[in-house]
Amino acid sequence: MEQASDRIIVVGAGFAGLGAVHRLLEAGVPGERILLLERAPHVGGRAFSFVDRESGHVLDNGQHVLLGCCTAFMRLLNRLTRRPGVRFQPLLSIPVYAGGRWSAIESRRLPGPLHLLPSLLQYRHVSLDGRLRIARAALAMLAARPGQLDALSFRAFLERHGQTDEVIRLVWDLVGTAILNGHADDVSAGLAVEAFQMGFLNGPEPSRLGLFTRPLGDLAAEAVEALKERGVECRRGRAVALDVGPSGAMGVRLADGSALPARGVILAVPHDQARILLPKGALASAEPLFRMRWSPILNVYLEYPRAAMEADVAASFAMGGMFVFNRGRLLGDADLDGRLLSISISAADAYRSWGADEIARQVETALAEMFPVAREVPAVWRKVVWQPKATFLAEPGMGPARPGVRTRVAGLYVAGDWVDTGWPACLEGAVRSGEMAAAALCEDGWA
Ligand SMILES: Cc1cc2nc3c(=O)[nH]c(=O)nc-3n(C[C@H](O)[C@H](O)[C@H](O)COP(=O)(O)OP(=O)(O)OC[C@H]3O[C@@H](n4cnc5c(N)ncnc54)[C@H](O)[C@@H]3O)c2cc1C
Repeated sequence: MEQASDRIIVVGAGFAGLGAVHRLLEAGVPGERILLLERAPHVGGRAFSFVDRESGHVLDNGQHVLLGCCTAFMRLLNRLTRRPGVRFQPLLSIPVYAGGRWSAIESRRLPGPLHLLPSLLQYRHVSLDGRLRIARAALAMLAARPGQLDALSFRAFLERHGQTDEVIRLVWDLVGTAILNGHADDVSAGLAVEAFQMGFLNGPEPSRLGLFTRPLGDLAAEAVEALKERGVECRRGRAVALDVGPSGAMGVRLADGSALPARGVILAVPHDQARILLPKGALASAEPLFRMRWSPILNVYLEYPRAAMEADVAASFAMGGMFVFNRGRLLGDADLDGRLLSISISAADAYRSWGADEIARQVETALAEMFPVAREVPAVWRKVVWQPKATFLAEPGMGPARPGVRTRVAGLYVAGDWVDTGWPACLEGAVRSGEMAAAALCEDGWA
């Protein structure tokens, strides 16, 4: 019993939970005192993989990408996996297709924001006037203080700085939606500007695209094995509830009613679970948790009989903006190089009522425009993966409302991509939130 009360419990084995456990170990907490509890049979949370029964392919629930600025996530993978499985482009390079021609969003080895200037000047999808407008908005973003922009929508900010509908749709929304999982009308200018400042305008290094070369699920599973080797206990397939007494967090309770006492608890679950599990009054204001809405992401996998795609990644304005990944190549499968493609459509609300066949058909038609081989031969296999609860939607006004990692309950902390890290809902934000929660727990003397 003595030992049990020394325990620190981390609830949720998504990347926020993994980041928290790793930071506790780094702070010197012995692994034997840490218990990681996960409801699902798999670890990795919203970044997981599965084997498709029909094709045998290992698929991710959605193609994930990183930017060079995602340093905490990469540090975690470097420490906890044998091979981090992410390939960073030497310089940002995304070929973009529209209306029968290609142009590219690229970086050069120049200080930010000049690194994007040569490609902007040559960007054929918008008029010269549009390109000059883009430069104007980029300068405005660099000068802006994101904290003061949260009440505005990203579109309102862009319009204020002379961006036309065309430029918003063909540039800012294409990139912004992929980062923020919300269209310019729907997301906070504060968060969008901060994300562009950190990820794109800062120079060539942070804006490099990181592409996963291993299934996401393997990375999370390997990370958990590494934590277990350091003494951490991980139990899966168990939903837990918090056990909070008058003097603070006492631990957690399992579905069968049994209690697991703990000295400190980090609740690293999604926002909709946190609002169910947190006791009343635990957050200064729980209202934001009730206001947060989910934004869906759609992933379509297509397999062609012949190599259809040459690049690693490409984008198109079709389907409201989509990114195409050469999954066969990225996973190092020579036979599937150019043949197995993964198409990601962020903020996919518009497709909620569509059937899987209709979605796959439309995506295939879009690919037929982009790649000649896809025009000549139909895909031989199709799979639509719909993730309705991909990330919370960072609506205007949400920034200051995001809770911090500390709660009002002694010994209880929260983590997750929805917590206020200054980052959009993403792997980097999740890991940072976990690390912040663990650091706060140690700082407050609960370790
Ligand atoms: C399709 C898709 C594409 C994405 N693309 C990108 C991308 O390109 N780049 C990027 O950086 N991010 C991307 N994301 C977002 C990224 O996956 C998430 O932001 C991140 O994984 C969230 O991690 P988390 O630990 O905060 O939450 P989660 O991963 O949701 O982890 C929370 C864990 O808590 C567990 N849990 C919940 N309730 C309980 C309970 N009562 N007891 C025990 N356990 C519980 C859950 O089962 C889950 O495992 C994408 C997400 C999706 C779905």
